[in-house]
Amino acid sequence: MVDFVFPFHCLGCEKPGVIFCQECQKRIPFKSFQVCPFCEKTVTLRGEVCQLCKKESETFQKTCLEQLIVATSYNEKIIQRLIHVFKYNFVKSLDEALGDILAKSLLKNLDFVPDLIVPVPLHPLRHRWRGFNQSELLAQKIATQLSPPFEIPVEKELLKRTRYTLPQMKIKSQEERMSNLANAFALEKKLQEKVRSKKILLVDDVCTTGTTLFECSSLLADASAKKISAVVIARQGS
Ligand SMILES: [Zn+2]
Ligand SMILES: [Zn+2]
Repeated sequence: MVDFVFPFHCLGCEKPGVIFCQECQKRIPFKSFQVCPFCEKTVTLRGEVCQLCKKESETFQKTCLEQLIVATSYNEKIIQRLIHVFKYNFVKSLDEALGDILAKSLLKNLDFVPDLIVPVPLHPLRHRWRGFNQSELLAQKIATQLSPPFEIPVEKELLKRTRYTLPQMKIKSQEERMSNLANAFALEKKLQEKVRSKKILLVDDVCTTGTTLFECSSLLADASAKKISAVVIARQGS
């Protein structure tokens, strides 16, 4: 594993000297359509909630997440590899390539400029173990690309993990995943006013059931956010 990461060879084509080369970056297949974040079935123009879920999904009522943009497919082997090496081999420099993937998909699918970008937080223990919060790095990359030369503020301290939870990837059943994350997040009270009437973009690397984003979104909704959208590189199982 160590050899695989250092010295660097392109994760896509093995070319030496780079971690992920320009040519391979250009070959990343973006999702050609987006679906409703809740039923994951109905195709919507930009990943907005479908009409039926707007009326009937309890999760939507609670979370107020209006849109989830999924940049590419988790079925792409190269995407799985990039995300794994980024998160578990601690290759921080991949934030560039992965941030670009998010930014490109956002420029295509986001029809407003967010007032605030909020990365999904890591528990402090995991943050220390990894040395960085991958969502935070991605959020920072996006911040400069959505509305240049203007840099959108990234609010890193707004959301906190209050409980140490198992990585969602390691939990098999859907029910256990939901209870694993119940009340795992909190919103920093003294920053609450920053959310009021704001259009917010939540950022995470991958999502699975969506529970993490839903939990974060409902906290933002409780703090009177005006609009909440989210973006991930890929969604597992889709
Ligand atoms: Zn390459
Ligand atoms: Zn739906």
